[in-house]
Amino acid sequence: MTEVCLTVDVEDWYDGMAVLGQDLDRPAGAVTGLTGLDSLLRGERAVEGQNPGTDALTLFVVADYAPRVADELASLAAHGHEIASHGPDHGHLPEEDGTLVDWLRMGREALEDQVQVPVSGFRSPRFDVPAGMELVRYRSLLAEAGFSYVSDTQRLGPSSPVRELPVLSVGGLPLGGGSYQRLVPAAVTTRAVSLATGPAVLYYHSYDFGATLPGTAAIRSVAVAKQLIGRGRVRKVFSQVLSRYGSRACGHVEW
Ligand SMILES: [Zn+2]
Repeated sequence: MTEVCLTVDVEDWYDGMAVLGQDLDRPAGAVTGLTGLDSLLRGERAVEGQNPGTDALTLFVVADYAPRVADELASLAAHGHEIASHGPDHGHLPEEDGTLVDWLRMGREALEDQVQVPVSGFRSPRFDVPAGMELVRYRSLLAEAGFSYVSDTQRLGPSSPVRELPVLSVGGLPLGGGSYQRLVPAAVTTRAVSLATGPAVLYYHSYDFGATLPGTAAIRSVAVAKQLIGRGRVRKVFSQVLSRYGSRACGHVEW
């Protein structure tokens, strides 16, 4: 049976839109999606009669967002979910070796200090490799910054000094991404999972689990529309995959 790693990138929707040049007002009292995720996970366990810890997710957390969701992260970590790094901020990867290592380390250490758990996994904010840097060099700098695995869309192979857990992709289409899963039928996603040859790594965003997002009145550009359309479906697909396959944290798979 396919082993599935459900992962959630923990970041703020409004901050992400600001990076895209789309400044939108955050409604007063807006909630993040992490509380919804936490209760959804506990509900799944109750339904299945599972012991806490049977299913574990990996949360790739943007460190400068972490203090704003400190209680939620502490609760998720206490329930056995893995905390990994999504960078100190959601910016672009530095292109210079030393600066990149410092940046990577900063993201990891900030989370370790806050949540008080070891952080061994990294996913870059855009799943990218620094501009102009060879993959082999990037992988070695990840190891130098203290990471033992990476989850993006690249694969160096057995020579990589960090384990590689690329997100599920079929025919070049990154079906493992929640952004794709909101646009294709759930059966397409579960079929892709069942055909995976290694761990099927799927990723979602923390704001997909009940965060306060703008209503359709806020759609004034294609960029905003792309980030809102179909989001309501993501949580449903996530639940279907979780109840069918369960989930193991990336840091705990043999690969
Ligand atoms: Zn992200």
